[in-house]
Amino acid sequence: LTRLYGPLTALSNVRVDVMSALVSFDRVFEVLDLEPGIEEKPDAVAIPAGAGRLEFRDVHFRYPSAAEVSLATLEDVTALDRTENAPVLRGVDFTVEPGQMVALVGPSGAGKSTTSMLVSRVYDVTEGAVRVGGIDVRDATLDSLRDTIGVVTQDSHLFHETIRENLRYARPGATEEQMWEALHGAQVAALVRALPDGLDTVVGERGYRFSGGEKQRLAIARLLLKQPSIVILDEATAHLDSESEAAVQRALSAALTGRTALVIAHRLSTVREADLILVLDDGRIVERGNHTDLVAAGGLYAELYRTQFADSSPLAPEVEPVIIP
Ligand code: ATP
Repeated sequence: LTRLYGPLTALSNVRVDVMSALVSFDRVFEVLDLEPGIEEKPDAVAIPAGAGRLEFRDVHFRYPSAAEVSLATLEDVTALDRTENAPVLRGVDFTVEPGQMVALVGPSGAGKSTTSMLVSRVYDVTEGAVRVGGIDVRDATLDSLRDTIGVVTQDSHLFHETIRENLRYARPGATEEQMWEALHGAQVAALVRALPDGLDTVVGERGYRFSGGEKQRLAIARLLLKQPSIVILDEATAHLDSESEAAVQRALSAALTGRTALVIAHRLSTVREADLILVLDDGRIVERGNHTDLVAAGGLYAELYRTQFADSSPLAPEVEPVIIP
């Protein structure tokens, strides 16, 4: 079995590499629904409508090992029990108050995406709790969690269907008027209106191919239709031209207004506006505060600021244009 497991591990690593490569080819926003595999407790309670407080209480997390996931059905898994993954989050504790925007920053592999995935129950915590509106997400009804949380990631999931159908994933009963309102808010209405088939245009791989910035705005339109009170946002790192960048920023401001937001931040403009910045390193929050204070503190954030953020935002006021004589 050990002989079998070695190659399997190697194979699964290959898959991860291929998957990351695919994702980075097409880094766009998307509104995800909950994972189909998660279960609702028989006595689950509904998160109150409009709940905006998000809490992480001493959250520890390690990814389930291959033995726990795909090989668990084999008879002899004892040899694999020792292959437990290392902890990825170690005592993460913070609160996002209703309407606040909290930015998560940190080096690659620090645990930012993992933190965001625990809110929508892509995975459940190993220890501690994630609470939404005061309710542990594991005790909440799936419908109420789905209604409360909107996840906007960089992975493309515009289905090979019409724009209308793509929008209906966000709100099944959406009227034509609500769709146009959302498209307008997401700065993409004029574009859709100009297409010969309008809302009935088929999009995706074999359909009409939107640019990266356009796809991002369509995904934001889905968020506006869904109207969740809490948004989990992974900002795109892909470079858009400055016109698209500005349009996406305007669309995002509209989408985040009045909502609680936890943002994996890649833009200087975002960290500057955040009510609170959490600096994650190796699964722990090592610094927290606002942009000015953290830069002044001269720690990890100050270093990230120099290396990741200083040239990341063409809209940032302090980025001086380079004048070539
Ligand atoms: P980045 O900025 O590069 O996206 P991140 O801060 O979002 O990084 P995570 O993606 O949360 O970091 O990863 C945290 C750690 O968890 C990394 O060491 C990563 O290798 C590990 N990890 C991620 N996914 C899995 C998985 N499915 N199984 C085991 N380990 C994983």
